[in-house]
Amino acid sequence: MKKKRLLWQLYPSYLFITLAALLAVSLFTLSSLSHFFHKQYSSDLEARAQLFKSRIADLLLGGSYPALDLECRESGRTSGTRLTVILPSGIVVGDSEENPQGMDTHNDRPEVARALTGKTGTSVRFSSTLNQNMMYVAIPVFHDNDVLAVLRASVALSSIESELRRIRMRIISVGFFAAILAAAISLLVSRRIANPIEEMTRGVGHFEKGDLGYRLFVTDSFELGGLAEAMNSMATQLDERIKIETRQKNELKAVLSGMAEGVIAIDNDKNIISINEAAARFFKTDPASAPGRTLSEIVRNITFLDFVKISVKDQQNHEQDILLDDCENRTLHTRTSCLHDEKDSQTGILIVFNDVTTLRRLETMRKDFAANVSHEIKTPLTSIRGFVETLLSDCSSFSEKQIHFLGIIEKNVNRLMAIIEDLLKLSRIETERPEDLHFIKSNIHKVLSSAITTLKPEADKKNIVISLDCDRDLTAPMDSSMIEQAVINLIDNAVKYCGSNSRVDIRVEIKGQQVNIHVTDTGFGIEREHLPRLFERFYRTDKARSRQLGGTGLGLAIVKHIMLAHKGDVSVESTLGKGSVFTMHLPG
Ligand code: ADP
Repeated sequence: MKKKRLLWQLYPSYLFITLAALLAVSLFTLSSLSHFFHKQYSSDLEARAQLFKSRIADLLLGGSYPALDLECRESGRTSGTRLTVILPSGIVVGDSEENPQGMDTHNDRPEVARALTGKTGTSVRFSSTLNQNMMYVAIPVFHDNDVLAVLRASVALSSIESELRRIRMRIISVGFFAAILAAAISLLVSRRIANPIEEMTRGVGHFEKGDLGYRLFVTDSFELGGLAEAMNSMATQLDERIKIETRQKNELKAVLSGMAEGVIAIDNDKNIISINEAAARFFKTDPASAPGRTLSEIVRNITFLDFVKISVKDQQNHEQDILLDDCENRTLHTRTSCLHDEKDSQTGILIVFNDVTTLRRLETMRKDFAANVSHEIKTPLTSIRGFVETLLSDCSSFSEKQIHFLGIIEKNVNRLMAIIEDLLKLSRIETERPEDLHFIKSNIHKVLSSAITTLKPEADKKNIVISLDCDRDLTAPMDSSMIEQAVINLIDNAVKYCGSNSRVDIRVEIKGQQVNIHVTDTGFGIEREHLPRLFERFYRTDKARSRQLGGTGLGLAIVKHIMLAHKGDVSVESTLGKGSVFTMHLPG
């Protein structure tokens, strides 16, 4: 639609309103004036008739009609009024303009007919006698309450009309000048209103083009001046915000392009919003042209795309190692997190990945090395233990010193065997692929009871009571032999690091979707500084005590890895001198 200038919208309206008002006032004045003139003339005629009435009453009573006619002519001439005297019979007995003998009966005239009823009659009509429009006023002349005659005064309308026309002309010419003045003033007022708004529109056009340094002229009008000030301040703030946004965007761009990790942001339809250099390099694409394309156009790996699909669908953060199955057999450690708009609804996801191929290879090598070494050492150790045991079983020919040394050898071989066993267990848990683990819904009470039974002889030696508080029907998906091993390790520690005649409590509670198994003892406790590193391999708070009690330093590391394999965790709370609480968090 074609847009009209504000001036051409305001001006015609103003002009129309002004002219309409002027026209209405002029028409009203003209009609009032005409009404007033007619009324004035009719009152004037009545007054003249009243004056003349007193002079003709006697002549009428005396029946001297020629004298009456003469009187009419005389008075009519001096007053400039036509005077007519009409008898109730309608016969004209006197007229200032015509000869009454030649005139027809007048009682059919409306003003005369009304005067004959005793009231004043007024009429404006065409006079057949004088052949022009006339105004008539007729009054009754009474004698003893009877209408003796009707005295009619009349005047030609043309004289009123000419007077009226003159005044009308004056009103029209004044109105015309007033209209021209009103048109000019309307134009001025319209411009005064429209100009600042047009000026402001031009200024806003500068803002629209991005010239936020432009300032609008602030007029003295309260509203428009206020609006201009507000828009100027808005432009300043916007300018400021855009500068900040640009700076932040540049910083973010620099950070993203400097990152070794690949970063891809996609929307809910898996269209790429942005991609950093590392990601573009990895998937061999151009970071500038990638935005707008779908992720599947750039990434060809099904596992990667499926992983992203799940993240978009369930709106959760995910983390996974993805094997790309390409010629280099690369592994990507990939994390996804949701992107939200201001209403907190998901707009897409952010994918961050890291090429961990070398790292995973090294880890595998380390695990394999530990497993291989343990395995290799186990055979000669078993042989040594066998020989030592054989020597000790028949030691009658040995000196006491020799027996003592053989005892030391046996003790250390057993320790070494325990370490090797634990190392093998650890590497088995670590190298176990998730699909090889047997996660079956198992009865937790049963698993815990079995672990307690295993350690009961040890506990009895120190007179330690082991209690179990667990729902008998409680089940959870797990590899029960692994969980049993973990619980055994925790109870074993609790028994080892507790004084005699104390107790170990095992309590199971359900927290949301999680099954928490607490192993509480009233033993030596652990200093706060050791807690963060407690689950590391070979980390011991008191090496001498651990060795003396037959510890390998691997028990808690095994627990930790078992829980990780179950996608759970293990935590510890402890107070030195009071005891410890180890909690296994098992997803339900
Ligand atoms: P270890 O075979 O030495 O017991 P663990 O990995 O099982 O190895 O435990 C690591 C260390 O944590 C232990 O050496 C011990 O100092 C401490 N520890 C473990 N459990 C307890 C406990 N219940 N009370 C006190 N200290 C404990």
